[in-house]
Amino acid sequence: MTFFRSCSAVEDPENLLDPDRQFTEPWGGHDRGVCDKCGGEGVTLYECRSCLERGTDPECPACQGRVRFSETCPVCLGDGLINHTKRRGIAVFPTREGLYRYLAEKGADVEGSVVVELEGPIGDERDLDADNGALLVFPHRLVAVEPLDSELVLSIRTRG
Ligand SMILES: [Zn+2]
Ligand SMILES: [Zn+2]
Repeated sequence: MTFFRSCSAVEDPENLLDPDRQFTEPWGGHDRGVCDKCGGEGVTLYECRSCLERGTDPECPACQGRVRFSETCPVCLGDGLINHTKRRGIAVFPTREGLYRYLAEKGADVEGSVVVELEGPIGDERDLDADNGALLVFPHRLVAVEPLDSELVLSIRTRG
């Protein structure tokens, strides 16, 4: 199976295949202190964006068809404190639809971005946005690079 992520048009997607760069770090926010995702509870609600968009898939590698469930918070890993935010792997979604929904909800600026389709094994760490249905993978092949449809992101955003 393949996975999807967005990439700024000025980045070389080939870089995603470099094992020395296959790490993920937070986009912003803080990286110490009480966990802002779960408020220190250690548990948070997961909602698989891929299955919300495409319908429940029992084979979904992000949620195994559970779609909406409570589980160990992916940021603090259950202890309520943030102390390990650098993870091994490249953050991806198992479907293009899930990626678009994630970008729309995140309010990301996607102008001029591309969607990269990647192939590779799923890693053993949890992505910081695993509650959105993101996964960490170790890509070894670029399957496709296509323009990101920013109109589609806008239409999902306005649909709410
Ligand atoms: Zn799913
Ligand atoms: Zn947490």
